[in-house]
Amino acid sequence: MLIKNIKLSKKKILFIVICLLAITALSTLAVILKYNFNFEANNVVDESFLNIENTETQNTVLNEEINNSSKDEDKSYIKWFEFNVSYNVLLKTLNLDVSSHNNNENVKYNWIELISYLACKYGNDFTKFKQADLDKLIARLKSGETIATITKDMKNYAYYYEGYEAVLSQFIGEYNIQKPNSNNAYEKVYGLKAFHPLAQNYSYSHYDDFGNSRSYGYKRLHFGNDLMGSIGTPVIAVESGYIEAVGWNQYGGWRIGIRSFDKKRYYYYAHLRKGHPYAEDIYEGKIVQAGDVIGYLGMTGYSTKEDVNNINVPHLHFGIQLIFNEVQKDGSNQVWVDVYNIVDLLRKNRSSVIVNNTQTKDYIRKYEIMDPIVPE
Ligand SMILES: [Zn+2]
Repeated sequence: MLIKNIKLSKKKILFIVICLLAITALSTLAVILKYNFNFEANNVVDESFLNIENTETQNTVLNEEINNSSKDEDKSYIKWFEFNVSYNVLLKTLNLDVSSHNNNENVKYNWIELISYLACKYGNDFTKFKQADLDKLIARLKSGETIATITKDMKNYAYYYEGYEAVLSQFIGEYNIQKPNSNNAYEKVYGLKAFHPLAQNYSYSHYDDFGNSRSYGYKRLHFGNDLMGSIGTPVIAVESGYIEAVGWNQYGGWRIGIRSFDKKRYYYYAHLRKGHPYAEDIYEGKIVQAGDVIGYLGMTGYSTKEDVNNINVPHLHFGIQLIFNEVQKDGSNQVWVDVYNIVDLLRKNRSSVIVNNTQTKDYIRKYEIMDPIVPE
């Protein structure tokens, strides 16, 4: 009887121990999951970095994406997009678009359509670009064919158009801007409306560092372009929009995030100057216009403590995130594009600046703009 009781107790003890182990394991798992979720939600958000695993699966995602988008489903949205247009093709299509409008030609070209057609033809690999292909397309459009009829059998055209339009829709357009040669009177312009992220007459250097690995904090990739320049170089809003994020962030240091009015682009400017990171009157929710001074180049970041210079080389980290669906803004499936060729193209439109406040040494733009996309 006694032995039987002891045996039963042993079984009970074993059962209790197993239960306790299971509870411990489950709660540890819960803590890990919660930590990961918070980590992504609080830190990766607003960073132009993604986990390596995400990019390794990008090609599978892209293929699935192309298949999904051709199914015409209401709920589907682009989950991965690569901006692969070469500088050469950006420049050629920009010139075709702008000159056809400025010369008021019968057929006006839309560079996003031209780019999307070529992306389709080359499977988004622009190293395959041949001038003859672009010439042939232009000849067909000139002869009266529309892009809709030309691309009707290209099954990925809609996908590429949606993607390239998400990046470039506000880069070219009509706007009014003060001109130096006419007593600062406003002049109507059709052309490149997006500005370079660094002010006119400030030198910098950069290389295509998109996708390089970074190790601060956790293993991740670099999803932006670093523009190495002098501390204090005025940083310029590339596109008009509203300030969505401003202040300190562990990775970006003093940073500013600006959302386009169509909500599809989030511009990220990071590592701004220690002590005096922002231009005057910068606050969350404020509307800024393309070409406005928003801050100053510096080397802050890589620290949980505010206003710390932990970046080795002074530079502006500049990135563009695409948001096809608001769920993509934060979390682990963010879509950032390689902006290297875009930055090169934007050298054609740099904002001149002047000191506005001699006390604070704050700069403002020299020539005001009236951008029709800005709400009144
Ligand atoms: Zn960077």
